[in-house]
Amino acid sequence: MTFDAEAVYTELHAHFRGRIRRNESLSRHCTFGVGGLADVWIALDSRDELMNLVRLCAERRWPLLLVGNGTNTLYADTGVRGIVARNVLNKYTIEEQGDGTALLLAEAGVSWPRLLNELAPLGWGGLEFGPGIPGTLGGGVISNAGAHNSDMSQVLEWIEVFDARGSSVDQYSVPMVRRYQHNELDLSYRHSRFRELRRVRFNEQGNPMAAARSLIEPAEIITRLGIRLHREEPQKLRKLIEQYKQHRKKTQPVQQSAGSVFKNPPGDFAGRLIEQAGMKGTIHGKAQISDRHANFIVNSGGASAADVVALIREARNRVHEKFGVDLELEVELRGEWGEYRVQPEAQ
Ligand SMILES: Cc1cc2nc3c(=O)[nH]c(=O)nc-3n(C[C@H](O)[C@H](O)[C@H](O)COP(=O)(O)OP(=O)(O)OC[C@H]3O[C@@H](n4cnc5c(N)ncnc54)[C@H](O)[C@@H]3O)c2cc1C
Repeated sequence: MTFDAEAVYTELHAHFRGRIRRNESLSRHCTFGVGGLADVWIALDSRDELMNLVRLCAERRWPLLLVGNGTNTLYADTGVRGIVARNVLNKYTIEEQGDGTALLLAEAGVSWPRLLNELAPLGWGGLEFGPGIPGTLGGGVISNAGAHNSDMSQVLEWIEVFDARGSSVDQYSVPMVRRYQHNELDLSYRHSRFRELRRVRFNEQGNPMAAARSLIEPAEIITRLGIRLHREEPQKLRKLIEQYKQHRKKTQPVQQSAGSVFKNPPGDFAGRLIEQAGMKGTIHGKAQISDRHANFIVNSGGASAADVVALIREARNRVHEKFGVDLELEVELRGEWGEYRVQPEAQ
């Protein structure tokens, strides 16, 4: 089935109006500031809207990619075919439990830093470790985002997903709402059950190979979360948040990036290994391994995804040669990676 982007855009425009765009540059929607065009780009701002779009795409076999704030994503220079939908669902409520805790019921598109700024004055603690994590809560579940010795797994109780795993280019099955409890999510260091499926592998030359994509990608879309909060002095929360922000300012580069590029290997730091391998400050095109923190690749202005990939390959190969350590990517690859994509296995 072919995807007629012009016809899809025209059909959906009647509903989305100013929130739908044709041939939208993805470099505007990720913190790396790189990436080609999305055929059709949409900002979704309600759960009904999200679920209706997923149903429609599954029925019509339109490829759909759902993303959050794009702070952990490297888009291909050739962009993304089909629809890219950004989750900007941002409502939340706080249910006090009467025992000094509360359940935060949040939509998955809530931005972590914004939420913190609102929770701290109310005296609700739990998420204060993340002022430097610029993503959405949904994106934070995928990678079990964390910092300062805490992570999402310590506060997350459950999530709700819209499950479209039954639909593919060849078949349609009605997507359904499903709830996962904490213990079903397989959360560990920068890992969740959702990540295993799209783990980036490396070929013999050391090029990253994007995982195969499904018609509705991810096939399980997080729509809502339940997070446990606890009572804390607003003053103490503000102080911690400020302290974490200052730490970031001192240790992380200011240029565009997607945070840490590689996961830390057990018992070590990816940044230390890359630095010791002599790669700190290395430039390729308009991308650079940060001279402030070697696990950050920064866009010095006008970098391409190919520039970033060249540095990923070089850093990983050098670390492997020198230390025998195989670094794993922390950043996710999205879009049309051509030969750098793992082909789906024949059925
Ligand atoms: C300067 C900087 C500092 C950072 N520091 C940290 C840090 O300290 N700790 C840390 O853990 N991370 C850090 N990050 C990385 C990033 O902010 C986190 O990984 C964040 O959780 C990603 O959220 P996002 O909404 O931007 O996800 P995106 O990049 O938009 O998406 C990431 C992946 O999740 C999928 N996804 C997004 N939303 C959903 C959803 N609702 N349902 C299903 N799948 C979804 C997307 O398809 C994509 O594959 C940093 C990034 C930057 C730029």
